Amino acid sequence: MALKEYRKKRDFSKTPEPAGELSDSFRREIEQRLPGKVRKGGKPLYMVHDHYARQHHHDLRLEFDGALRSWAIPKLIDPANLEAKKLAVQTEDHPLAYGYWEGEIPEGSYGAGRVKIWDSGSFGVVDHKEGKKLVFMVKGKKLRGTFVLIHFRPGREWLFFRKKDA
Ligand code: MN
Repeated sequence: MALKEYRKKRDFSKTPEPAGELSDSFRREIEQRLPGKVRKGGKPLYMVHDHYARQHHHDLRLEFDGALRSWAIPKLIDPANLEAKKLAVQTEDHPLAYGYWEGEIPEGSYGAGRVKIWDSGSFGVVDHKEGKKLVFMVKGKKLRGTFVLIHFRPGREWLFFRKKDA
């Protein structure tokens, strides 16, 4: 699991973001705050954060191998126009616990600003070519249907959009 980059970017004596895995106490806290939200086996977690950083953006997170693969979407996802292709910049993997986290990243810390859960649910892989293309079926509250992530440029740039129904 590649959480090295995640940990390197953060000073956990300053930021309240989760440093590691889903502890029992954090699990209990989530069960109170977001009843029924802690995934108990079964389908992998899909979620999107609203992140009020210097630039308000969305962070799409998908559970793979016990961590959350993450993409920052600078132009906010618009539920009324999901077929529009959006730039999605892949960021460092985040711990699974991050998928349930909301809070305020303090001024001076990486990604300073408020973080809120925008959508959450589960997903299933439809087609996956590692590092190239991921087609997945989302079951969230705001997003539902088949979505595509395509690595379209060397580096971390992907495109994100909903697939038109056949
Ligand atoms: Mn972010």
